[in-house]
Amino acid sequence: MKTEFSLAQLADPDIAEANKILRACVHCGFCTATCPTYVLLGDELDSPRGRIYLIKEMLEKDRPPTREVVKHIDRCLSCLACMTTCPSGVNYMHLVDQARVRIEQQYARPLTERMLRAVLALVLPRPDLFRLSMVLARIARPLAALLPTPETFSATPTLLSRIKAMLALAPGRLPPPGAAAGSVFPALGKRRGRVALLQGCAQQVLAPRINQAAINLLTRHGIEVVLVKDEQCCGALTHHLGRDDDALARARGNIAAWTAEAERSGLDAILVTTSGCGTVIKDYGYMLREDRDFALAAARISALAKDITEYLGSIELHKSQQPGDVVVAYHSACSLQHGQKITGLPKDLLSKNGFVVKDVPESHLCCGSAGTYNLLQPDIANRLRDRKVANIAMIKPDVIAAGNIGCMVQIAGGTSVPVVHTIELLDWATGGPRPGLS
Ligand code: SF4
Ligand code: SF4
Repeated sequence: MKTEFSLAQLADPDIAEANKILRACVHCGFCTATCPTYVLLGDELDSPRGRIYLIKEMLEKDRPPTREVVKHIDRCLSCLACMTTCPSGVNYMHLVDQARVRIEQQYARPLTERMLRAVLALVLPRPDLFRLSMVLARIARPLAALLPTPETFSATPTLLSRIKAMLALAPGRLPPPGAAAGSVFPALGKRRGRVALLQGCAQQVLAPRINQAAINLLTRHGIEVVLVKDEQCCGALTHHLGRDDDALARARGNIAAWTAEAERSGLDAILVTTSGCGTVIKDYGYMLREDRDFALAAARISALAKDITEYLGSIELHKSQQPGDVVVAYHSACSLQHGQKITGLPKDLLSKNGFVVKDVPESHLCCGSAGTYNLLQPDIANRLRDRKVANIAMIKPDVIAAGNIGCMVQIAGGTSVPVVHTIELLDWATGGPRPGLS
Protein backbone atom coordinates (compact mmCIF):
# COMPACT_ATOMS: atom_id res chain seq x y z
CA MET A 1 0.00 0.00 0.00
CA LYS A 2 1.39 3.39 -0.94
CA THR A 3 1.78 5.79 1.97
CA GLU A 4 2.44 9.53 2.05
CA PHE A 5 3.90 10.36 5.43
CA SER A 6 6.15 13.40 5.57
CA LEU A 7 9.77 13.11 6.74
CA ALA A 8 8.83 14.97 9.90
CA GLN A 9 6.09 12.42 10.61
CA LEU A 10 8.47 9.52 9.95
CA ALA A 11 10.83 10.86 12.60
CA ASP A 12 8.27 9.61 15.13
CA PRO A 13 9.16 5.92 15.77
CA ASP A 14 5.49 4.95 16.08
CA ILE A 15 4.62 6.53 12.74
CA ALA A 16 7.71 4.93 11.15
CA GLU A 17 6.45 1.57 12.43
CA ALA A 18 2.92 2.23 11.16
CA ASN A 19 4.37 3.20 7.78
CA LYS A 20 6.23 -0.11 7.59
CA ILE A 21 3.10 -2.06 8.48
CA LEU A 22 0.88 -0.17 6.04
CA ARG A 23 3.35 -0.61 3.18
CA ALA A 24 3.29 -4.38 3.69
CA CYS A 25 -0.45 -4.50 2.99
CA VAL A 26 -1.25 -5.25 -0.66
CA HIS A 27 -5.01 -4.80 -0.04
CA CYS A 28 -5.76 -8.29 -1.35
CA GLY A 29 -8.63 -8.70 1.11
CA PHE A 30 -7.86 -12.32 2.06
CA CYS A 31 -8.14 -11.28 5.70
CA THR A 32 -11.79 -10.27 5.34
CA ALA A 33 -12.92 -13.92 5.07
CA THR A 34 -11.66 -14.81 8.55
CA CYS A 35 -12.54 -11.56 10.35
CA PRO A 36 -15.42 -12.24 12.77
CA THR A 37 -16.89 -8.75 12.54
CA TYR A 38 -16.85 -8.79 8.73
CA VAL A 39 -18.37 -12.28 8.72
CA LEU A 40 -21.18 -11.03 11.00
CA LEU A 41 -21.75 -7.50 9.77
CA GLY A 42 -20.63 -7.66 6.12
CA ASP A 43 -19.35 -4.06 6.18
CA GLU A 44 -15.92 -3.47 4.60
CA LEU A 45 -15.19 -0.92 7.35
CA ASP A 46 -15.65 -3.72 9.88
CA SER A 47 -12.99 -5.79 8.13
CA PRO A 48 -9.22 -5.66 8.70
CA ARG A 49 -8.64 -4.08 5.29
CA GLY A 50 -11.30 -1.42 5.95
CA ARG A 51 -9.84 -0.65 9.37
CA ILE A 52 -6.34 -0.45 7.92
CA TYR A 53 -7.57 2.22 5.47
CA LEU A 54 -9.26 4.16 8.27
CA ILE A 55 -6.09 4.06 10.41
CA LYS A 56 -3.90 5.04 7.45
CA GLU A 57 -6.10 8.05 6.71
CA MET A 58 -6.11 9.14 10.36
CA LEU A 59 -2.35 8.82 10.81
CA GLU A 60 -1.31 10.20 7.43
CA LYS A 61 -3.49 13.30 7.66
CA ASP A 62 -2.63 13.58 11.36
CA ARG A 63 -6.34 14.01 12.07
CA PRO A 64 -8.07 13.38 15.37
CA PRO A 65 -10.13 10.19 15.21
CA THR A 66 -13.66 10.72 13.88
CA ARG A 67 -16.78 9.07 15.31
CA GLU A 68 -16.80 6.73 12.32
CA VAL A 69 -13.19 5.63 12.88
CA VAL A 70 -13.84 5.05 16.59
CA LYS A 71 -16.97 3.01 15.87
CA HIS A 72 -15.16 0.57 13.56
CA ILE A 73 -11.99 0.30 15.65
CA ASP A 74 -14.08 -0.28 18.78
CA ARG A 75 -15.83 -3.16 17.00
CA CYS A 76 -12.49 -4.87 16.31
CA LEU A 77 -11.93 -7.75 18.74
CA SER A 78 -8.12 -7.67 18.41
CA CYS A 79 -8.54 -11.41 17.83
CA LEU A 80 -5.72 -11.28 15.23
CA ALA A 81 -7.34 -13.87 12.93
CA CYS A 82 -6.42 -11.42 10.15
CA MET A 83 -2.72 -11.80 10.99
CA THR A 84 -2.91 -15.56 10.63
CA THR A 85 -4.61 -15.23 7.24
CA CYS A 86 -2.55 -12.37 5.80
CA PRO A 87 -0.07 -13.65 3.18
CA SER A 88 2.00 -10.44 3.41
CA GLY A 89 2.78 -10.56 7.13
CA VAL A 90 0.95 -7.32 7.98
CA ASN A 91 1.31 -6.71 11.71
CA TYR A 92 -2.26 -5.57 12.31
CA MET A 93 -1.81 -5.92 16.09
CA HIS A 94 0.75 -3.14 16.37
CA LEU A 95 -1.26 -0.94 14.01
CA VAL A 96 -4.58 -1.25 15.83
CA ASP A 97 -2.84 -0.88 19.21
CA GLN A 98 -1.51 2.45 18.00
CA ALA A 99 -4.95 3.50 16.77
CA ARG A 100 -6.50 2.67 20.14
CA VAL A 101 -3.93 4.83 21.96
CA ARG A 102 -4.65 7.76 19.61
CA ILE A 103 -8.40 7.34 20.16
CA GLU A 104 -7.93 7.30 23.92
CA GLN A 105 -5.77 10.43 23.79
CA GLN A 106 -7.63 12.50 21.21
CA TYR A 107 -11.28 11.44 21.04
CA ALA A 108 -13.88 12.75 23.47
CA ARG A 109 -16.22 9.84 24.13
CA PRO A 110 -19.63 10.54 25.70
CA LEU A 111 -19.40 11.00 29.48
CA THR A 112 -21.09 7.70 30.42
CA GLU A 113 -18.74 5.78 28.14
CA ARG A 114 -15.69 7.52 29.58
CA MET A 115 -16.87 6.68 33.07
CA LEU A 116 -17.51 3.05 32.16
CA ARG A 117 -14.06 2.65 30.63
CA ALA A 118 -12.44 4.37 33.59
CA VAL A 119 -14.18 1.96 35.98
CA LEU A 120 -13.08 -1.07 33.93
CA ALA A 121 -9.48 0.20 33.79
CA LEU A 122 -9.53 0.76 37.55
CA VAL A 123 -11.24 -2.45 38.68
CA LEU A 124 -10.20 -5.25 36.33
CA PRO A 125 -6.42 -5.16 36.92
CA ARG A 126 -6.83 -5.13 40.71
CA PRO A 127 -7.92 -8.50 42.15
CA ASP A 128 -9.23 -6.99 45.42
CA LEU A 129 -11.43 -4.48 43.62
CA PHE A 130 -12.45 -7.05 41.04
CA ARG A 131 -13.52 -9.45 43.79
CA LEU A 132 -15.56 -6.72 45.44
CA SER A 133 -17.17 -5.80 42.09
CA MET A 134 -18.14 -9.44 41.55
CA VAL A 135 -19.80 -9.58 44.96
CA LEU A 136 -21.74 -6.37 44.20
CA ALA A 137 -22.66 -7.66 40.74
CA ARG A 138 -23.98 -10.86 42.26
CA ILE A 139 -26.21 -8.85 44.61
CA ALA A 140 -27.42 -6.68 41.73
CA ARG A 141 -27.88 -9.61 39.37
CA PRO A 142 -31.66 -10.02 39.92
CA LEU A 143 -32.01 -6.47 38.58
CA ALA A 144 -30.67 -7.65 35.22
CA ALA A 145 -33.94 -9.49 34.61
CA LEU A 146 -35.82 -6.22 35.07
CA LEU A 147 -33.76 -4.37 32.46
CA PRO A 148 -35.41 -4.30 29.02
CA THR A 149 -33.99 -6.76 26.47
CA PRO A 150 -33.60 -5.23 23.01
CA GLU A 151 -35.63 -7.21 20.47
CA THR A 152 -33.19 -6.82 17.61
CA PHE A 153 -29.44 -7.21 17.32
CA SER A 154 -27.53 -3.93 17.43
CA ALA A 155 -23.83 -3.53 16.69
CA THR A 156 -24.01 -0.17 18.50
CA PRO A 157 -24.37 -0.97 22.20
CA THR A 158 -26.23 1.10 24.78
CA LEU A 159 -25.17 1.70 28.37
CA LEU A 160 -28.07 -0.51 29.50
CA SER A 161 -27.02 -3.44 27.32
CA ARG A 162 -23.49 -3.15 28.69
CA ILE A 163 -24.65 -3.13 32.30
CA LYS A 164 -26.83 -6.16 31.57
CA ALA A 165 -23.83 -7.95 30.03
CA MET A 166 -21.65 -7.21 33.07
CA LEU A 167 -24.27 -8.51 35.48
CA ALA A 168 -24.84 -11.63 33.37
CA LEU A 169 -21.12 -12.48 33.40
CA ALA A 170 -20.82 -12.28 37.21
CA PRO A 171 -20.54 -15.79 38.67
CA GLY A 172 -23.14 -17.18 41.10
CA ARG A 173 -20.46 -17.66 43.76
CA LEU A 174 -16.76 -16.97 44.11
CA PRO A 175 -14.20 -19.58 45.15
CA PRO A 176 -11.87 -18.80 48.08
CA PRO A 177 -8.63 -17.03 47.06
CA GLY A 178 -5.73 -19.17 45.88
CA ALA A 179 -2.08 -19.15 47.03
CA ALA A 180 -0.68 -15.78 48.09
CA ALA A 181 1.89 -13.75 46.17
CA GLY A 182 5.38 -14.56 47.37
CA SER A 183 4.61 -18.27 47.85
CA VAL A 184 7.23 -20.77 46.69
CA PHE A 185 6.21 -24.35 45.89
CA PRO A 186 9.24 -26.64 46.07
CA ALA A 187 9.71 -29.41 43.53
CA LEU A 188 8.71 -32.88 44.69
CA GLY A 189 11.76 -35.11 44.40
CA LYS A 190 14.79 -34.00 42.44
CA ARG A 191 14.52 -30.39 41.23
CA ARG A 192 14.65 -30.19 37.43
CA GLY A 193 13.77 -26.54 36.97
CA ARG A 194 12.42 -23.34 38.49
CA VAL A 195 9.69 -21.13 37.03
CA ALA A 196 7.57 -18.11 37.91
CA LEU A 197 3.83 -18.53 37.36
CA LEU A 198 1.88 -15.41 36.40
CA GLN A 199 -0.85 -14.90 39.00
CA GLY A 200 -3.17 -12.95 36.71
CA CYS A 201 -5.97 -10.67 37.92
CA ALA A 202 -9.47 -11.82 36.90
CA GLN A 203 -8.35 -15.45 36.80
CA GLN A 204 -7.11 -15.51 40.41
CA VAL A 205 -10.52 -14.28 41.54
CA LEU A 206 -12.75 -16.36 39.25
CA ALA A 207 -10.81 -19.62 39.03
CA PRO A 208 -7.76 -19.99 41.32
CA ARG A 209 -8.08 -23.75 40.65
CA ILE A 210 -6.37 -23.19 37.28
CA ASN A 211 -3.04 -22.02 38.70
CA GLN A 212 -3.37 -24.56 41.50
CA ALA A 213 -3.58 -27.31 38.85
CA ALA A 214 -0.48 -25.84 37.14
CA ILE A 215 1.41 -25.75 40.47
CA ASN A 216 0.39 -29.35 41.30
CA LEU A 217 1.45 -30.64 37.90
CA LEU A 218 4.73 -28.72 37.78
CA THR A 219 5.91 -29.58 41.28
CA ARG A 220 4.95 -33.25 40.71
CA HIS A 221 7.30 -33.18 37.72
CA GLY A 222 10.22 -31.70 39.64
CA ILE A 223 9.69 -28.02 38.82
CA GLU A 224 9.82 -25.43 41.60
CA VAL A 225 7.16 -22.73 41.20
CA VAL A 226 7.30 -19.18 42.55
CA LEU A 227 4.50 -16.61 42.66
CA VAL A 228 6.60 -13.46 42.45
CA LYS A 229 5.70 -11.04 45.24
CA ASP A 230 5.68 -7.66 43.52
CA GLU A 231 4.10 -8.86 40.31
CA GLN A 232 0.98 -7.04 39.10
CA CYS A 233 -1.52 -7.19 36.23
CA CYS A 234 0.39 -7.71 32.97
CA GLY A 235 -1.22 -4.58 31.49
CA ALA A 236 -3.23 -6.37 28.77
CA LEU A 237 -6.57 -5.02 29.92
CA THR A 238 -5.59 -1.35 29.90
CA HIS A 239 -3.43 -1.87 26.79
CA HIS A 240 -6.52 -2.99 24.87
CA LEU A 241 -8.42 0.03 26.19
CA GLY A 242 -5.73 2.27 24.65
CA ARG A 243 -4.42 3.36 28.06
CA ASP A 244 -0.80 2.81 27.30
CA ASP A 245 0.62 4.85 30.18
CA ASP A 246 -1.03 2.46 32.60
CA ALA A 247 -0.12 -0.65 30.58
CA LEU A 248 3.54 0.38 30.21
CA ALA A 249 3.85 1.25 33.91
CA ARG A 250 2.58 -2.24 34.76
CA ALA A 251 4.97 -3.80 32.24
CA ARG A 252 7.93 -1.96 33.79
CA GLY A 253 6.87 -3.01 37.28
CA ASN A 254 6.66 -6.66 36.25
CA ILE A 255 9.95 -6.56 34.38
CA ALA A 256 11.67 -5.19 37.49
CA ALA A 257 10.04 -7.81 39.74
CA TRP A 258 10.77 -10.79 37.47
CA THR A 259 14.30 -9.63 36.69
CA ALA A 260 15.04 -9.32 40.42
CA GLU A 261 13.64 -12.83 41.02
CA ALA A 262 15.65 -14.28 38.12
CA GLU A 263 18.86 -12.66 39.42
CA ARG A 264 18.19 -13.74 43.00
CA SER A 265 17.18 -17.38 42.57
CA GLY A 266 17.12 -18.13 38.84
CA LEU A 267 14.14 -18.60 36.51
CA ASP A 268 13.94 -20.96 33.54
CA ALA A 269 10.70 -19.41 32.37
CA ILE A 270 7.76 -17.19 33.26
CA LEU A 271 4.72 -19.38 32.72
CA VAL A 272 1.33 -18.03 31.78
CA THR A 273 -2.00 -19.87 32.02
CA THR A 274 -4.04 -17.01 30.52
CA SER A 275 -3.10 -16.70 26.88
CA GLY A 276 -4.40 -13.14 26.57
CA CYS A 277 -1.77 -12.10 29.13
CA GLY A 278 0.90 -14.25 27.47
CA THR A 279 0.49 -12.46 24.15
CA VAL A 280 1.08 -9.08 25.77
CA ILE A 281 4.04 -10.19 27.94
CA LYS A 282 5.66 -11.67 24.85
CA ASP A 283 5.21 -8.21 23.29
CA TYR A 284 6.85 -6.27 26.18
CA GLY A 285 10.08 -6.17 24.17
CA TYR A 286 8.29 -4.35 21.35
CA MET A 287 6.18 -2.15 23.62
CA LEU A 288 9.27 -0.84 25.44
CA ARG A 289 11.68 -0.84 22.49
CA GLU A 290 12.17 2.94 22.73
CA ASP A 291 12.66 2.94 26.49
CA ARG A 292 16.41 3.17 27.13
CA ASP A 293 16.14 1.95 30.70
CA PHE A 294 13.90 -1.03 30.00
CA ALA A 295 14.30 -2.11 26.36
CA LEU A 296 16.90 -4.78 27.01
CA ALA A 297 15.28 -6.18 30.15
CA ALA A 298 11.86 -6.14 28.42
CA ALA A 299 13.23 -8.20 25.53
CA ARG A 300 14.73 -10.67 28.01
CA ILE A 301 11.45 -11.03 29.88
CA SER A 302 9.52 -11.51 26.64
CA ALA A 303 11.92 -14.29 25.71
CA LEU A 304 11.38 -15.95 29.11
CA ALA A 305 7.56 -15.82 28.85
CA LYS A 306 5.92 -19.06 27.79
CA ASP A 307 2.43 -20.40 27.62
CA ILE A 308 2.13 -23.28 30.10
CA THR A 309 1.63 -25.76 27.21
CA GLU A 310 4.87 -24.62 25.53
CA TYR A 311 6.76 -25.43 28.70
CA LEU A 312 5.01 -28.76 29.23
CA GLY A 313 5.89 -29.68 25.65
CA SER A 314 9.56 -29.43 26.62
CA ILE A 315 9.44 -31.78 29.63
CA GLU A 316 8.53 -35.43 29.90
CA LEU A 317 5.18 -35.87 31.64
CA HIS A 318 4.36 -38.85 33.86
CA LYS A 319 2.52 -41.70 32.23
CA SER A 320 -1.14 -40.89 31.76
CA GLN A 321 -3.68 -42.20 34.26
CA GLN A 322 -6.67 -40.81 32.40
CA PRO A 323 -9.32 -43.45 31.59
CA GLY A 324 -9.33 -42.55 27.91
CA ASP A 325 -12.97 -42.10 27.02
CA VAL A 326 -13.39 -38.39 27.65
CA VAL A 327 -14.19 -36.42 24.48
CA VAL A 328 -12.66 -32.94 24.64
CA ALA A 329 -13.70 -30.06 22.42
CA TYR A 330 -10.52 -28.01 22.30
CA HIS A 331 -11.31 -24.31 21.97
CA SER A 332 -8.30 -22.55 20.58
CA ALA A 333 -8.19 -19.08 22.18
CA CYS A 334 -7.42 -16.37 19.61
CA SER A 335 -4.56 -15.06 21.73
CA LEU A 336 -3.03 -18.54 21.65
CA GLN A 337 -3.62 -19.53 18.02
CA HIS A 338 -3.35 -16.12 16.32
CA GLY A 339 -1.41 -14.08 18.91
CA GLN A 340 1.20 -16.69 19.89
CA LYS A 341 0.85 -19.14 16.97
CA ILE A 342 0.39 -22.06 19.34
CA THR A 343 -2.07 -24.37 17.61
CA GLY A 344 -1.28 -28.09 17.68
CA LEU A 345 0.66 -28.32 20.95
CA PRO A 346 -2.21 -28.17 23.49
CA LYS A 347 -4.17 -30.74 21.45
CA ASP A 348 -1.11 -33.02 21.17
CA LEU A 349 -0.56 -32.87 24.94
CA LEU A 350 -4.20 -33.76 25.58
CA SER A 351 -4.19 -36.61 23.03
CA LYS A 352 -0.91 -38.03 24.34
CA ASN A 353 -2.43 -38.04 27.80
CA GLY A 354 -5.40 -40.13 26.85
CA PHE A 355 -8.13 -37.67 25.87
CA VAL A 356 -10.15 -37.92 22.66
CA VAL A 357 -9.57 -34.43 21.27
CA LYS A 358 -11.87 -32.97 18.65
CA ASP A 359 -11.44 -29.74 16.72
CA VAL A 360 -14.27 -27.23 16.88
CA PRO A 361 -15.62 -26.25 13.43
CA GLU A 362 -14.75 -22.62 12.49
CA SER A 363 -12.10 -22.75 15.20
CA HIS A 364 -10.42 -19.64 13.77
CA LEU A 365 -13.41 -17.49 14.79
CA CYS A 366 -13.34 -15.67 18.13
CA CYS A 367 -15.84 -16.65 20.89
CA GLY A 368 -16.50 -12.95 21.54
CA SER A 369 -14.68 -12.67 24.86
CA ALA A 370 -11.62 -10.65 23.80
CA GLY A 371 -10.63 -8.89 27.04
CA THR A 372 -13.30 -6.32 27.81
CA TYR A 373 -15.03 -6.77 24.43
CA ASN A 374 -17.94 -8.84 25.77
CA LEU A 375 -18.65 -6.04 28.24
CA LEU A 376 -18.30 -3.18 25.77
CA GLN A 377 -19.80 -4.79 22.64
CA PRO A 378 -22.25 -7.31 24.14
CA ASP A 379 -24.46 -7.86 21.07
CA ILE A 380 -21.63 -8.81 18.72
CA ALA A 381 -19.97 -10.81 21.51
CA ASN A 382 -23.17 -12.75 22.22
CA ARG A 383 -23.64 -13.61 18.56
CA LEU A 384 -20.08 -14.89 18.37
CA ARG A 385 -20.56 -16.89 21.56
CA ASP A 386 -23.77 -18.48 20.26
CA ARG A 387 -22.04 -19.39 17.02
CA LYS A 388 -19.09 -20.88 18.93
CA VAL A 389 -21.37 -22.87 21.25
CA ALA A 390 -23.38 -24.21 18.27
CA ASN A 391 -20.13 -25.31 16.60
CA ILE A 392 -18.98 -26.99 19.80
CA ALA A 393 -22.32 -28.80 20.17
CA MET A 394 -21.80 -30.39 16.74
CA ILE A 395 -18.95 -32.54 18.11
CA LYS A 396 -20.87 -33.62 21.23
CA PRO A 397 -18.03 -33.25 23.75
CA ASP A 398 -17.98 -34.35 27.39
CA VAL A 399 -15.92 -31.30 28.23
CA ILE A 400 -14.63 -28.11 26.61
CA ALA A 401 -10.97 -27.19 27.19
CA ALA A 402 -9.44 -23.74 26.64
CA GLY A 403 -6.26 -21.94 27.66
CA ASN A 404 -7.75 -18.55 28.52
CA ILE A 405 -10.09 -17.61 31.39
CA GLY A 406 -11.90 -14.99 29.28
CA CYS A 407 -12.93 -17.62 26.71
CA MET A 408 -13.87 -20.07 29.47
CA VAL A 409 -16.29 -17.59 31.10
CA GLN A 410 -17.69 -16.48 27.76
CA ILE A 411 -18.36 -20.00 26.45
CA ALA A 412 -19.67 -21.26 29.80
CA GLY A 413 -22.31 -18.51 29.59
CA GLY A 414 -23.89 -20.27 26.60
CA THR A 415 -23.62 -23.99 27.31
CA SER A 416 -24.20 -26.60 30.00
CA VAL A 417 -21.13 -28.61 28.91
CA PRO A 418 -18.38 -28.17 31.57
CA VAL A 419 -15.61 -25.79 30.56
CA VAL A 420 -12.14 -26.34 32.04
CA HIS A 421 -8.60 -25.17 31.45
CA THR A 422 -6.30 -27.44 29.44
CA ILE A 423 -3.93 -27.60 32.43
CA GLU A 424 -6.69 -29.02 34.65
CA LEU A 425 -7.10 -31.99 32.29
CA LEU A 426 -3.34 -32.52 32.06
CA ASP A 427 -3.02 -32.34 35.83
CA TRP A 428 -5.76 -34.96 36.17
CA ALA A 429 -4.13 -37.21 33.58
CA THR A 430 -0.77 -37.09 35.33
CA GLY A 431 -1.95 -37.81 38.85
CA GLY A 432 -4.00 -34.78 39.97
CA PRO A 433 -7.68 -34.60 40.96
CA ARG A 434 -10.44 -34.98 38.40
CA PRO A 435 -11.65 -31.47 37.48
CA GLY A 436 -15.31 -30.57 37.89
CA LEU A 437 -16.85 -32.62 35.08
CA SER A 438 -20.45 -33.67 35.52
S1 SF4 B 1 -4.67 -10.05 3.88
FE1 SF4 B 1 -2.93 -8.78 4.53
S2 SF4 B 1 -2.21 -7.79 2.66
FE2 SF4 B 1 -4.28 -8.58 2.24
S3 SF4 B 1 -5.66 -6.84 2.71
FE3 SF4 B 1 -5.53 -8.09 4.55
S4 SF4 B 1 -3.88 -7.14 5.73
FE4 SF4 B 1 -3.66 -6.37 3.63
S1 SF4 C 1 -8.30 -8.40 14.88
FE1 SF4 C 1 -10.05 -9.77 14.50
S2 SF4 C 1 -11.86 -8.41 14.52
FE2 SF4 C 1 -10.03 -7.10 14.33
S3 SF4 C 1 -9.79 -6.79 12.13
FE3 SF4 C 1 -8.48 -8.56 12.66
S4 SF4 C 1 -9.79 -10.36 12.33
FE4 SF4 C 1 -11.15 -8.56 12.39
